[in-house]
Amino acid sequence: MPKKTRSKNKSHSGVDKQGKVLKTKRKTKDLDEVQKTMAAETARQLLNQPIDYDVPGAGQHYCLYCSKYFIDEHNLQHHIKGKFHKRRVKDLKTEAYTLEEAERAAGKGQYRAPRPIDVPSDQNKLYQMDTDAVEDVISS
Ligand SMILES: [Zn+2]
Repeated sequence: MPKKTRSKNKSHSGVDKQGKVLKTKRKTKDLDEVQKTMAAETARQLLNQPIDYDVPGAGQHYCLYCSKYFIDEHNLQHHIKGKFHKRRVKDLKTEAYTLEEAERAAGKGQYRAPRPIDVPSDQNKLYQMDTDAVEDVISS
């Protein structure tokens, strides 16, 4: 009787034993990295990028929360209405999981719940908010 040989199922080639996806083609920034870029000055730079023909849409239509480039304004607006973006915004509203939190949970130091983070639905508000606050201080 011939020995049955199992051919490797190609559809799971990018998946490890825990089912964790190892593919990196569509990998974007992790939540903690995005939260770092949400500071006013970095957000301003990322949302007003110089023209770069190496990225989609020459870098003029960027979603900061998902760290993705879009080819035009229509596609960006369509993405902002979508499930992926909304889920991402929801995830960003709590502080990203860090090694410190893991250590605190394991009994090292005092446990502190992840802090909520203010995420405006319009990403342009990230840096506009700060300038408005500065103008208020100047005018008063
Ligand atoms: Zn997005």
